[in-house]
Amino acid sequence: DVTVGVLALQGDVREHLAALTAAGVEARPVRRPGELAEVDGLVLPGGESTTISKLATAFGLMEPLRERIRSGMPAYGSCAGMIMLADKILDPRAGQETIGGIDMIVRRNAFGRQNESFEAAVEVAGVEGGPVEGVFIRAPWVESTGAEVEELAVFDGHAVAVRQGRLLATAFHPELTGDHRVHRLFADMVRASAR
Ligand code: GLN
Repeated sequence: DVTVGVLALQGDVREHLAALTAAGVEARPVRRPGELAEVDGLVLPGGESTTISKLATAFGLMEPLRERIRSGMPAYGSCAGMIMLADKILDPRAGQETIGGIDMIVRRNAFGRQNESFEAAVEVAGVEGGPVEGVFIRAPWVESTGAEVEELAVFDGHAVAVRQGRLLATAFHPELTGDHRVHRLFADMVRASAR
């Protein structure tokens, strides 16, 4: 079967490893280019995108990550991970870069101070069996998307789950809920691309 890595620089790495294992794939942390080279797909966890960006640069991972994504490795980003997969961020912090790959513009901390974290039922296209419990924690939303991007879920008038080819991103954190359907969807994307 396939092996899926979780970028383990900062963020909720353990929760993603557990969700991937529950979804039936071999899961392992990725901290170095050599480890990245060995996985069939990669999860970019939730956390703090500015920190993940700076550590990826410091660890010499930014270019290898871009290279693998350009050459078709499946990747899934939740929250900060969604930001890392965006081609463009509105108001990036100084020195903040993304890996990119999804033709979209995201707004960080988009739901505002009144609404820093909340949960909402979100219907996600491609996920069967009813809405997903969306856990939003200082979450981004998708401000705009290019023609190749499918909007899988919309909340409050903004896309909060998107897919472009082998890249998947959610503004919320399915890894925190015990519902592994989004991870199973990603596991299927990785299996399909490994075939
Ligand atoms: N606000 C964080 C960021 O900008 C994302 C928060 C999260 O991943 N829960 O990176």
